[in-house]
Amino acid sequence: MKRKDFFRGLAVGTVALPITIRAISGDLSAQQNNSTGAISGKVYNWKMVTTWPPNFPILGEGCNLFADMVRRMSGGRLDIKVFGGGELVPPLECFDAVRSGAADMAHGCAYYWAGKVPAAQFFASVPFGMNAQQMNAWILSGGGWELWRELYEKYNLVPFPAGNTGVQMGGWFNRAIDTLDDLQGLKMRMPGLGGKVLERAGATPVLLAGSEIYTGLERGVIDATEWIGPYHDYKMGFHQIAKYYYAPGWHEPGTMLEFFINKDKYEELTPDLQEIVRVASLWINNWMLNEGEKRNAEYLSIIQNEADVEIRTFSKEILDTLRGYTKEIVAEITTDDPFAKRVYDSFQAYRRQATAWSELTEKVFYENIQVM
Ligand code: CA
Repeated sequence: MKRKDFFRGLAVGTVALPITIRAISGDLSAQQNNSTGAISGKVYNWKMVTTWPPNFPILGEGCNLFADMVRRMSGGRLDIKVFGGGELVPPLECFDAVRSGAADMAHGCAYYWAGKVPAAQFFASVPFGMNAQQMNAWILSGGGWELWRELYEKYNLVPFPAGNTGVQMGGWFNRAIDTLDDLQGLKMRMPGLGGKVLERAGATPVLLAGSEIYTGLERGVIDATEWIGPYHDYKMGFHQIAKYYYAPGWHEPGTMLEFFINKDKYEELTPDLQEIVRVASLWINNWMLNEGEKRNAEYLSIIQNEADVEIRTFSKEILDTLRGYTKEIVAEITTDDPFAKRVYDSFQAYRRQATAWSELTEKVFYENIQVM
């Protein structure tokens, strides 16, 4: 659009809608044309499985809130019962449970499915990748969601953005990590790509379920662990047993969470119920991030005041080295999997622009930040 056309459009209120809004409206009119468009009184009873323990702070609570919102907005026509991990299916079986229709939808994090679907992890978090604001911009406005839907359609699923942890912490350590030598032989609980990066740096990633981490760290089965951020970490009690708390969570700079719905079940819904699900998921996407940011700030201060813990940041040498290994590992994944390459190319194209924008603005702001 030419500049003068843009301003003329503004004056008469006919500026073209951004592409994503047009795409979504287009989807909706197609759906309405295919149905009577009338609100049916049919009640849908759905089961939502989750990868979190029941009522897990923020993540599980957000799922309960989503179910309540959908129930209220639909006048009870879409009634979703939420199950914690293990209550209906084990946490890491949610993907298959929803594919097969054993459950109607799930809440989780796309990197859990990286073993089956390598491209999925780019919709969750990549070490040294994008923060929550940038992930939202890429997914919601930058074409990420379209790729995500195309990928999940192969598995008979429809994905929705549904929360973000915000930047995580680097983890709890029983010894200081001053140089790369300190990573040698370090037994650290760190799942996913971050674990692979650490391994390349000489550490030994250890897989432990959430419930086993505290005793593992206390008894020296592991020397270190990451979890989420100050709020969830404090509730796990790590400040009672670890000496050092490191920032930043280089491995998870802004982990996006997801809902995914069995495609057949989603398509059975009337258009108004589909729209309720979409809008409620976007509301939850925002709510989880806001809750996390608020609680993490609050609990960082509690940890600083209450715990005998040294809070440190990783050195530039360590972060530069880990970033180099991340680049190698991502190159291997995208070489092996063409869809992962398409997703990562889109991710990278937006990230390049976003980085230039934030270096000029937010970076300078943060370097000069102070409470007035
Ligand atoms: Ca984590």
